[in-house]
Amino acid sequence: MDTIRIGHGYDVHALAAGLRLRLGGVDIAHGKGCVAHSDGDVLVHALCDALLGAAALGDIGKHFPDSDPAYKGIDSLVLLREVTALLARHGYSIGNVDTTLILQRPKVGPFVGAMREALAGAMGIDLECVSVKATTTEHLGFTGREEGVAAHAVALIYRR
Ligand code: MG
Repeated sequence: MDTIRIGHGYDVHALAAGLRLRLGGVDIAHGKGCVAHSDGDVLVHALCDALLGAAALGDIGKHFPDSDPAYKGIDSLVLLREVTALLARHGYSIGNVDTTLILQRPKVGPFVGAMREALAGAMGIDLECVSVKATTTEHLGFTGREEGVAAHAVALIYRR
């Protein structure tokens, strides 16, 4: 029987004026972007943590420390590919993933298709196995005040 495991990830980045905004592997034109050592892709970071968590292999900070200059400005999709490869070395395949972005602005609906394609490509799984959703917090809290962006992710992995 297959071994089936589930994992959860959560990440937050502060927003600041003049930085690029990259979410789910897609660059979005906006006046603000995420403050980060990497490209600040909060959605991909939450997804990496969900995948690592499902395999009980630690978290993204353990594998890709932000004190390491090798990861400065890195495309987070590269990290997602590395996490996928790490899971494969442990015998795990990715079943499906579901993600939620939490931000007030900009509206990301028009970019969801491209995000799903980017994430599916990095993980080497079918598009139908990748879900990206987004919600505002009705102007409440740090996301509602546009001080930051948060993301949740859950992932199911399996080993035959
Ligand atoms: Mg992060």
